[in-house]
Amino acid sequence: MEDKESKDFRKEFPKCPVCGGKPLFHETALALKARGLVDEKWEMALDSRQGAIMQPGKESSLPIGTEVPGYSFNTDICMECGNIWAVKLERVTVKKTITLASPTVMPNREARRHMKQKGNYQSDLRNLLLS
Ligand SMILES: [Zn+2]
Repeated sequence: MEDKESKDFRKEFPKCPVCGGKPLFHETALALKARGLVDEKWEMALDSRQGAIMQPGKESSLPIGTEVPGYSFNTDICMECGNIWAVKLERVTVKKTITLASPTVMPNREARRHMKQKGNYQSDLRNLLLS
């Protein structure tokens, strides 16, 4: 089992670690909020990802509903020096579902068309991602 400290892990780096500059996407979101164009709680980032890292071949043996340690992070770009850094890092718990998918692996257009024609998109997508 993981210890409480790693489970509650959360860090934020609101300023550029290189030069102390402001993050572009965050600042843009602030400008949108100031004009009332987006919700106050809305977050904007260069990239925002969440998921679990699993050894290939192991994930398929886990029952649906299994909770595993996962990650979450947002990145942004420095308005002064162009550096890209993680503004938020977090440990999260990810529950396995029917459609649990890797955030970085998606079938190409040809593969998706083939799956849709077969009328079995979801289960084929799952098999593809787990293979
Ligand atoms: Zn910077």
